[in-house]
Amino acid sequence: MFEQDSNVNCFANRNNIDALVSAVATAPVATVLAESKVLEQRSGASLEWNPTTGTPSYIEGKLSKSMPGAPSKISQVFLAENLAVLGLSQEDDKEFSEIDSFDWGGLEFTRLQQTNQGLPLLGAEAVVGVDEKNRVRIVTSGLRPQSVAQRSDNPIPLEDAKQIACNDLGKDLELRTKDIPHKTVFYPTQQQYVEAYHLTISAEIPMGDWEYFIDVQNGEILDSYNSMKLHSFYFAPRARVYPENPEETPLATVMLRNVKSPYKQLDGEHCKVINEDAPAAVAGPNYRFNFFPDNTHFDECQVYYAVEKVYQYFLDLGFRGFKVNNPYGKANNGQLAANVHTGKNYDNAFYRPSTGQIYFGDGSYPSNAHGLQDLAKEVDVVAHEFTHALIDEYRPGMFGSDGSALHEGYADYFACSLTNDSDLGEYVVPSPEKPGVIRNCDNNLRYPEAPAEPHARGRVWAGACWDLRKEVGKEVADFLIFGSILVLGTTSPTFKYAKDMLLLIDKYWCGSEYKATIKRIFEREREIPV
Ligand SMILES: [Zn+2]
Repeated sequence: MFEQDSNVNCFANRNNIDALVSAVATAPVATVLAESKVLEQRSGASLEWNPTTGTPSYIEGKLSKSMPGAPSKISQVFLAENLAVLGLSQEDDKEFSEIDSFDWGGLEFTRLQQTNQGLPLLGAEAVVGVDEKNRVRIVTSGLRPQSVAQRSDNPIPLEDAKQIACNDLGKDLELRTKDIPHKTVFYPTQQQYVEAYHLTISAEIPMGDWEYFIDVQNGEILDSYNSMKLHSFYFAPRARVYPENPEETPLATVMLRNVKSPYKQLDGEHCKVINEDAPAAVAGPNYRFNFFPDNTHFDECQVYYAVEKVYQYFLDLGFRGFKVNNPYGKANNGQLAANVHTGKNYDNAFYRPSTGQIYFGDGSYPSNAHGLQDLAKEVDVVAHEFTHALIDEYRPGMFGSDGSALHEGYADYFACSLTNDSDLGEYVVPSPEKPGVIRNCDNNLRYPEAPAEPHARGRVWAGACWDLRKEVGKEVADFLIFGSILVLGTTSPTFKYAKDMLLLIDKYWCGSEYKATIKRIFEREREIPV
């Protein structure tokens, strides 16, 4: 997505901490396991293990009774009383100090730092969430059950440590300020926590805020990294496309976002385009994909642009990307592959679960008077196929007559919601004199009369969703409907089941604010069973 920053001094960036945080799986520490069982039985808690530390990554439940005092105090008391659950032995220093607090989602959170011999243990933190009744509900932790070295009697002078770090940054080092802030901490190594100077060196050359951890015993550099968050150079190549379709939007030059460096091919963070008729498009001078609509590469640009647009739309709704169940996306870090010029004058577009890819035919019009025009050139067609892929990511293998119809209905709904237009396929249906659309979400179809064919039956669902959108607005409707897809708990949902999922999302996150509206539209007007 972003240009790799070129200022990083590779010698100074060690990131030795990676070895600890991505360590091989560790079995739960035996004492922790026993203690956590007690807690689970006592409070009905649920717990997730952190395979790196062998201790819980979270414990959730009614973990304590109401306790007196402020949430931060309660958090400290709870941790002190439950050391073993977090993998800390009684010999460990029990001291936790508050370093942050915030409230979110109805809980008061306190972030605590474990200390030992008066020094913080780097990364040994816990976050505790306390509810309005002063009960501990959530504890998350990154504590390592690890020994802590004794503080040194004879540390190297701080000035020596600064010199060691400055030497490491190279002979061209140019400090931004002579002042080098420092702290003394315990730094975690594979064996134990060791006492270290933590220095922050702010430099012009090499550009960065360089964090150094230097062993106070021997001056060894335990770790170093640049903490400066560089505003990465954003660059997007340009291409000529139809922003929605050739009928409604004239050709325009747009930016193709998230193309991967070196920006020469339509291979991006979210989409890779495959041309079935020709080798892949290559950008011309100035990273420009300069093709006209009759060029074989035009559709590649068009579909790249559309997929990126749809992907962003769903990311905004909380989509996790094609990472788990989509075979192509799983192998390519969430990327969706889109094929253009599929078949010969093929009058359709489709999503294929076995490949996880979407495909767009050229259409057979005008050689076939009843054929369609190029399906790649319409954003709502791309959005429809994309939605099929998205449903398959969260709820793979949905089938059954209602299940297949829901697949189509969701796909139509999101294609129309995204383009803010209840018509689908205005361009691909070449009938200027008729209302030339494939389908329309603005309909009054009712469930009992719906035909079995999935697209036809799906129109009932799309129509009901569209009615909901008209009443509660795009943002709320999109949220409820997207959420309802994620919680579908069966491979063959009925319309009733899908409607119940909508009610569930509304109940948990909106306090049933839209219940009456949903029930009226879906049950009374569309006659989906109660
Ligand atoms: Zn479809």
